[in-house]
Amino acid sequence: LNRNHVAVLGATGSIGTATADVLQHLAKTDPDGNWRMWAASGHQNLPELTKIAAQMDSPPQRLILSSPEAAKSFDGTDALASKYDVGVGTNALVDVAMSPEVDTVVAAIVGRAGLESTLAAIDAGKRVGLANKETMVVAGPLVRQMMAKSGSELLPVDSEHSAIFQCLGNWASTRADTRADGTSGDSDAPANHAPKPRKLILTASGGPFREWSSDRIADASPADALAHPTWEMGRKISIDSATMMNKALEIIEARWLFDLPADAIEVFVHPQSIIHSMVEFDDGSVIAQMSPPDMRLPIQFALTYPRRLPSQSPPLCRKQSYDLTLEPADHGRFPALSLGFEVAKAGGTAGAVLNAANERAVGLFLDGKIRFTDIAAGCRDVLENHTHEENPSLSRMLELDRWARVEVDRRFSQ
Ligand code: NDP
Ligand code: MG
Repeated sequence: LNRNHVAVLGATGSIGTATADVLQHLAKTDPDGNWRMWAASGHQNLPELTKIAAQMDSPPQRLILSSPEAAKSFDGTDALASKYDVGVGTNALVDVAMSPEVDTVVAAIVGRAGLESTLAAIDAGKRVGLANKETMVVAGPLVRQMMAKSGSELLPVDSEHSAIFQCLGNWASTRADTRADGTSGDSDAPANHAPKPRKLILTASGGPFREWSSDRIADASPADALAHPTWEMGRKISIDSATMMNKALEIIEARWLFDLPADAIEVFVHPQSIIHSMVEFDDGSVIAQMSPPDMRLPIQFALTYPRRLPSQSPPLCRKQSYDLTLEPADHGRFPALSLGFEVAKAGGTAGAVLNAANERAVGLFLDGKIRFTDIAAGCRDVLENHTHEENPSLSRMLELDRWARVEVDRRFSQ
């Protein structure tokens, strides 16, 4: 099958537009690949969504407006909509994720809202380019079970996890039947030769407050927190970068994606954002993946793996000198980090609770209702107030997701 129909869920966002750019590039430079954005979703902004669709040489077949309000007000008579097959509401996301017309799903919706469509794509055995890390945080063990059943390939888009995946080499995939430590290989993986990773070393830019004192951080405004030094990203992940909750979520994501225990994961601050992460093997050798900070590279690799094709990402300039620094992360000024390790260790219901509490707290912070340092403190409170369960069902996790949001509101309305 030489068809690459890609559904970009969250096409109007930062990862979504970068994915559109990569697909245009692949369609031009890899003509035998038959690359096509077959479907694209946005939450409510139809003009923005159709603008992206119109930019594609081969426009998508299906557009989805996922918000329930959009679904209510949409009557199909919109002039833009008449040009496309438009689906509305969250069910349309799940339908397209499972459609036989779709080969690959790029999961680029932000937050827990991306969960159902990502799980549907995995369940349907699609290749999934996973940007939506929250799915792994909420339901990592469930994702592994579904992958083992459906044979879905989950390729990380998050730059750190893509880096780790690349450092591990082709012998270890994130397929559920191939553990990252090589203990049980699938048929085409030379498991005998698979080296054992001893540590996964995640790098972090340190965010906009890397050099700020605790006192100054406590008074940080949303505008301060949104000003990321090296990456341009959506609002939620930008705040997560400032609190370093993003790294906490990535610790949990790595724990489930690569099936290694939390104590095999370390975090280093690397402000230049050139080393995207590293793997330390049993013999002490450390392999790092380096490239300029440009999400188009991990997005493209997730789409074309195992092929590496020329990308639009500019090469590291060879005529320039680089100072690449690595320093231990500061859990004192960034208490979210400890939460990441604790939740990665605890598993069960902890991920769903942390993720929901954080999403709600980030929303309150952006609305000017709570202080910056309330975000991590609120998350810890809610996490400690919940009764941990080892093997929750999906519906139980979603129930706890709703509970945790209400708990955050309750805590800050007192
Ligand atoms: P953006 O905020 O830029 O985009 C989010 C996308 O999700 C938009 O298409 C938005 O639609 C859609 N969306 C928002 N709310 C909902 C909802 N309730 N239901 C369905 N769709 C919704 O986010 P990013 O692109 O920055 O991030 C997307 C994901 O990728 C996140 O999980 C993030 O952690 C991850 N990621 C991002 C990186 C980056 O560089 N940006 C790097 C690594 C991971 P609309 O435009 O209509 O609101
Ligand atoms: Mg990342």
